[in-house]
Amino acid sequence: MEQFAAILLEWYALHGRDLPWRHTRDPYRIWLSEVILQQTRVAQGMDYYLRFLARFPEVGALAAASEDEVLKLWQGLGYYSRARNLHEAARQVVERFGGAFPTQYAAVRSLPGVGDYTAAAICSAACNAPHAAVDGNVYRVLARLFDIDTPIDTAEGRKAFAELAQTLLDTARPGRYNQAIMDFGALQCTPKNPRCEDCPLAGKCLARAAGTATRRPVKQGRTQIRDRWFNYLHITCGRSTLLCRREARDVWRGLYEFPMIETDGPTDFATLAALPRFRELTGNGWQLLRSVELPPHRLSHRTIRATVHRIETAQAAPAAGTIAIETSALGDYAVPRLLERYLTSLHTDREQRFAAHETAGIPVLGTDYLNK
Ligand code: SF4
Repeated sequence: MEQFAAILLEWYALHGRDLPWRHTRDPYRIWLSEVILQQTRVAQGMDYYLRFLARFPEVGALAAASEDEVLKLWQGLGYYSRARNLHEAARQVVERFGGAFPTQYAAVRSLPGVGDYTAAAICSAACNAPHAAVDGNVYRVLARLFDIDTPIDTAEGRKAFAELAQTLLDTARPGRYNQAIMDFGALQCTPKNPRCEDCPLAGKCLARAAGTATRRPVKQGRTQIRDRWFNYLHITCGRSTLLCRREARDVWRGLYEFPMIETDGPTDFATLAALPRFRELTGNGWQLLRSVELPPHRLSHRTIRATVHRIETAQAAPAAGTIAIETSALGDYAVPRLLERYLTSLHTDREQRFAAHETAGIPVLGTDYLNK
């Protein structure tokens, strides 16, 4: 499209976002920002970017860290496979490239967690390599400008959009151009209410002319969201708390959580308490202090419906597959967001309960326990 890049770059000069990773050519910093910003809003990712950079100012420091530390720093961002890949990629940079972050497209693309988009974004921003970066914003802008109804989540769609994006790229300034079109999608040509009235490309936009802007881009498949039921046993014995590390290839791999029994549907406490795993975890002398149903937790393909049963046990030896940690050290472990919220609410609740206890003389802990 004639003058497309020039119009876009003019718009970017006026409206583009001033972000810290745009002031550097260091591929390590650009990569860090790109990985953090996948599936994360800039406002949320900024803090994490600064935190990671402060702790790991160069790739060797990240490579040398433990996975637990990386996951703890990542806690709250979600999609934890990104953090595991980040860590593994840093190690590979050290092993395969002597600690110098690569800038050749093929080498960058070969790192774990780096796809076509991320490799193009890094190489174009770090050394002006002529690769068009195609993220969700770019799909949207191009689908609207050219009124394309080919679904973007098909092999055919991905190929067609990648080719179109490459033909439109300003090869003299690929880094700046890629940032411009992404910002244009994020700020002007937004998903729900595109600002067509003051859009500098309105006169060239085929979807605007056809009245199809809000129906572009087209997606073929709707992901089926499935429910999962997690029954957490928050077990303490004196000053220690039981935790497990999630090791299976499943959500939250590498994070810590309370021992958990997953069931096919909602399960009452008496049914859980009759299971062999429950007995293994609690021994014989235990009491239920209370049960808390957590708000449903949405992941990309799943909704986690979790209940936490707070249990005090007399069994000091941790059961197989668990570790007993000092309760005061709980904050050192990376836990999924829903448990982080539960633990925070527990502190607040405990403070309130103590306050209530002092004023009304009610027991601090519940007495609705079963004692075996
Ligand atoms: S006219 Fe509207 S739909 Fe078309 S590019 Fe501009 S903001 Fe997007």
